[in-house]
Amino acid sequence: MIRVVDKVLRFGEGKKLRQLEETVARVAGLESQIAPLSDDALKGKTAEFKSRFAEGETLDDLLPEAFAVAREAAKRSTGMRPFDVQVMGAVVLHQGSIAEMKTGEGKTLVATMPVYLNALAGQGVHVVTVNDYLAGRDATWMAPVYEFLGLTVSALQNNMEASERRQAYLSDITYGTNTEFGFDYLRDNMVLNSDQMVQRGYFFCIVDEVDSILVDEARTPLIISGPGERVAKTYYDFARIARRLKEGEDEDYELDEKKRTVAITEKGLEKVEKELGIENIYEDLSGQLVNHLMQALRAESLYKRDVDYLVQDGEVKIVDEFTGRVLEGRRYSEGLHQAIEAREGVKIKEENQTLATITLQNYFRLYGKIAGMTGTAATEADEFREIYKMEVVVIPTNEPMVRDDRNDLIYKTEKAKFKAAADIIADCYQRKQPILVGTISVERSEHLSDMLKRRGVPHEVLNAKNHAREADIIADAGQPGAVTIATNMAGRGTDIKLGPGVIDVGGLYVLGTERHEARRVDNQLRGRSGRQGDPGTSQFVISLEDDLLRIFGGERIHRLMDRLGIEEDMPIEHSLISRSVENAQKKVEEQNFQIRKRVLEYDDVMNKQREIIYGQRQRILSGEDLREDVLQIIDRVLRQEVSVYTGTSRFSEEWELDELVGGVKNFFPATLTKEDLGDPLDLDAETVADTIVDDALKVFQAREDNFGVDAARALERWVLLRTIDAKWREHLYEMDYLREGIGLRALAQKDPLVEYKNEGFGMFQELMESIQSDFVKYLYHLEIVQEDKPAQAVPRGLAYSGGGDSSLAQDFAARAAVGGGVADSSGQAFQAAQNAAKTVVAPRHVEEKVGRNDLCPCGSGKKYKKCCGS
Ligand code: ADP
Ligand code: MG
Repeated sequence: MIRVVDKVLRFGEGKKLRQLEETVARVAGLESQIAPLSDDALKGKTAEFKSRFAEGETLDDLLPEAFAVAREAAKRSTGMRPFDVQVMGAVVLHQGSIAEMKTGEGKTLVATMPVYLNALAGQGVHVVTVNDYLAGRDATWMAPVYEFLGLTVSALQNNMEASERRQAYLSDITYGTNTEFGFDYLRDNMVLNSDQMVQRGYFFCIVDEVDSILVDEARTPLIISGPGERVAKTYYDFARIARRLKEGEDEDYELDEKKRTVAITEKGLEKVEKELGIENIYEDLSGQLVNHLMQALRAESLYKRDVDYLVQDGEVKIVDEFTGRVLEGRRYSEGLHQAIEAREGVKIKEENQTLATITLQNYFRLYGKIAGMTGTAATEADEFREIYKMEVVVIPTNEPMVRDDRNDLIYKTEKAKFKAAADIIADCYQRKQPILVGTISVERSEHLSDMLKRRGVPHEVLNAKNHAREADIIADAGQPGAVTIATNMAGRGTDIKLGPGVIDVGGLYVLGTERHEARRVDNQLRGRSGRQGDPGTSQFVISLEDDLLRIFGGERIHRLMDRLGIEEDMPIEHSLISRSVENAQKKVEEQNFQIRKRVLEYDDVMNKQREIIYGQRQRILSGEDLREDVLQIIDRVLRQEVSVYTGTSRFSEEWELDELVGGVKNFFPATLTKEDLGDPLDLDAETVADTIVDDALKVFQAREDNFGVDAARALERWVLLRTIDAKWREHLYEMDYLREGIGLRALAQKDPLVEYKNEGFGMFQELMESIQSDFVKYLYHLEIVQEDKPAQAVPRGLAYSGGGDSSLAQDFAARAAVGGGVADSSGQAFQAAQNAAKTVVAPRHVEEKVGRNDLCPCGSGKKYKKCCGS
């Protein structure tokens, strides 16, 4: 059965490769026409392609010629003529697939061809790298090719200001890290003016080291957070004020317990404004004082402890009105929950608020087309297909691969394993064969380094802290006798060229000291050796004490080793064991895939909501005339409000018209009285609503005449934008909370994801409704447009997290320290940076005291005084 599937796949693959080869041949065939062109004539091709594109030729039509031109330009400007296999990879990228090309095959150059072709469309092409250093390096390295052809290229850097970023995005080609692209997207959706935006669309991107970015780093979403806009103190203040207000017709507020509504009176409002020392409570849009007031009143008068909610372990928990059970994971929305917390005097959660967030998966899905390249993708082909709809195409190497990949050596103990590793290293060093040693953590690197120091073996240790310096060191890792110890990520993307005479001693030796959870990461390490047909060796040493073996199937191997009477420092090497290691890895890979899929399923709920909200923001920012929309919103909101009063009875004489008029006055300064509605004995809901809406439109028109049309439109946009932002942030918070608590639903035999989807949907509808009703209230109560006040680009005091590049937060701290960028040195930012720094800074290494008669810690088995201590 498997055989057949295999054959079909191979057949499909074969066909695909044949098609690719045909295209490659067409590109090669054009060389004889392109090569004789003068530099100027070659350059002129760009304008020609652009106009042909404008006249309807597709990028696919232009591909062979454009690739031939790019190839020739590369040859003339960099001295590198892309090999046929590189052209093949380039075609795959243009098609929006993933090209698996081994390390050292020259993927940086490969990208220039599809980048050039797609840049002809004039919408900007993005190239995504794993760190800032590589973004800068690759942009500079490939710039001669692009510039030769008359295109502009830039690289995003972490410390850039908005204006520089905008400029970078205006280039035909923009290199940058996933986090820079992602955070720019989020920030662009936080601005208050369209001219503060920096990006200009998502046309085509090529993701380098695509597995690192879309698989490894995809588990943590990008998050921009800032101090919560509603600080706890405000809640406590309003709770105190609300307690002093009196309920009653001629008092401060009116209460309708049946309809569960409260309305503040003129008198009450005056009192509150006096308490707060402000003139117009409606003026503060982001502080949302009106909302604070209303929620404090509701908390004070409508919500009953032990009926509506419980106070449990210092937390306010909602009681389901039907079942009487606690609804875990739910909070009252719009600040009501905090208002109740304030009233009850329990602690208000004043955590850093998420202001914007997106997973990398969903960021990259914004692009019309996305392509990827890496040395190791095939093991994750299913995931790429399922989540990104991208195929993985394995491109043959330019020269046949001759690296000797050896079977794993398996030791009983970790100690024995490291001793063996040290032996191998020392041996390579003596024979002048360069060796690159991979470890899984900074700590292990340090450990190995100590052992080598004792043996007097000079070496370098890298740990992906400073990308530029790492790159320098790793570039020398192929020199005779070089010993380089590196964690997995260190020096990624940098080529290791072999030094003189190294080929004769066997090329670069790669030694892995532990199997990673994912085979892919092991393959990355192996791939450092044997580039472009170079000789080389790869070897992993592992021990039964390694996590992977301890957790998955170590038992069996253990018993086997015992039965065979294997000594501690004697390795076994057997394909059976190598296979069971591989099986363990497959199990973990599958598990991790499921986790990532789950993350994405949850995020999909948020993603749809984000698309809607960001879409609305974009419309507003584009400066569109929203008059019609606004009128519709007013209409809808007021009719909804009226129905609250007219829905109580079939008989109009039972309607409480005073309260109805009072209720709509919450929304706009109504000029009509109860009498204007008509004969109370003969009213119908529709007519009442019409009368109210007419009145609202009259007031609306009067205000518009007063402000002038342009100012009125600007006010609408401004108020709507601010209302959306404030409500959306709150919604993010509530969704977070829901998600954290939803797992508990599983105890009640419910699928948390289904519950999350349903409730998330409901909460979003509530959000949209409350945006509209708040919008109406603010719109009618604001008098002046503060247009001349320069709008703040992005709120200050932001912290950035996620995306896996923890050095980002460090850079961020550096920026905060000099007071530049959007960051300031607020506590949150500093804390975030500190936390991130904790995870990337190497543990300080403490020299242990060793007794002279103790066994030497280098693992030699001799006494310390006779060995390293002598
Ligand atoms: P990868 O990203 O695939 O690991 P790089 O883009 O870092 O590979 O390139 C590896 C090396 O190959 C670089 O030193 C580069 O200069 C060289 N190289 C790439 N393509 C060519 C070519 N067509 N001709 C000559 N050298 C090339
Ligand atoms: Mg590379």
